[in-house]
Amino acid sequence: MKQCVICGKQGEKHHIVFKNQGGLDFPLNYIYLCSEHHRGKEGPHKNRKIDIKYKVNLQNKLINILKKDYYTMEEIMEILKINPRQAKMITKDFSRCREGYKRKDIIKRLMGRRFYHEFMLDKYYDESWNIFEDEMIELELKLK
Ligand SMILES: [Zn+2]
Ligand SMILES: [Zn+2]
Repeated sequence: MKQCVICGKQGEKHHIVFKNQGGLDFPLNYIYLCSEHHRGKEGPHKNRKIDIKYKVNLQNKLINILKKDYYTMEEIMEILKINPRQAKMITKDFSRCREGYKRKDIIKRLMGRRFYHEFMLDKYYDESWNIFEDEMIELELKLK
């Protein structure tokens, strides 16, 4: 049995990028949380701050493990520890370049076809920022 990463009680599997947000099944997208830290006030389903924090953490992890510009299907399967069917789910949205699948496309798909940023927690934030938000994060990805 997996334990809650916060308190160590018996944990339930949470998808960091929810299924209904385009989240996929791959081990890095799972976090184990007890019922309180999962569905309670301090859990990602009720607390937007915590939800965004988990998502930004996941995105940073992906940025750090996917450092090359292009990846083959085999590399994606190995790095993400997924099977061919899951790898197909990830890559079916976009085309393969001669060199492989683009890093940015892969990360964006794994995040549910969008990027997340801490500034989404800003109290002045509203969803109309989405347009340049993606551009900013893409810029960050290129710089790293
Ligand atoms: Zn807990
Ligand atoms: Zn959940």
